[in-house]
Amino acid sequence: MSCTFDLDHYGELLDAARTGGYRFAFFDQDPEPGDVLLRHDVDLSLAAALDLATAEHETGAAATYFLMSESVFYNLASPEGEETIVRLRALGHRVGLHAVYPRAALDERFEPVVAWHNPDPEYMSAPVEGAANVMEPRFFSPETYRSDSNQHWRSGCPHEDLAAGRFEWLQLLTHPEIWVYPGDTMGETMLAMLDAERERRLRQLAADRIDLS
Ligand SMILES: [Zn+2]
Ligand SMILES: [Zn+2]
Repeated sequence: MSCTFDLDHYGELLDAARTGGYRFAFFDQDPEPGDVLLRHDVDLSLAAALDLATAEHETGAAATYFLMSESVFYNLASPEGEETIVRLRALGHRVGLHAVYPRAALDERFEPVVAWHNPDPEYMSAPVEGAANVMEPRFFSPETYRSDSNQHWRSGCPHEDLAAGRFEWLQLLTHPEIWVYPGDTMGETMLAMLDAERERRLRQLAADRIDLS
């Protein structure tokens, strides 16, 4: 099995979790042995989030998608943003807030759970009033956490350990853009995302009655 960052291997990761006897859980209670908490920080692309969400739904997996309300890259208050939240929930997923410190402005769009974007160590695991913080100690320890940051697994791709049931439980953080767009490096993947983004923007311009002739 090759550990490529694409939807095929993401599906293999989910299969490995099932092989290892794990079940998919959310951040609404303390993790129990055998739980896998699928967490997605949506930093860049709502389209990628929906692609991954659909792939998960097709295999019966459920995740928590952390969306930004003050992203540089997408607008959660736009029709596309509102539709994304509806679609994610319809696919069986949950929606948390990917917050920019110090603002954790939860509203009715989100479950009461926060994941800070690019957090500094001082506040990363501190309690958040009125919400769970995904990095507080009950949800995080180095042994029960894996992340695909910048297309790199610090402790190796977890598929073998999942299939063998070696985690007591696991919080698995993945970024949809990394798995949906092709590229052997983060740089290549970002360029592929921008190519797709260009097409999407051209359609939006046409829909906005911009003359593209
Ligand atoms: Zn792997
Ligand atoms: Zn982020």
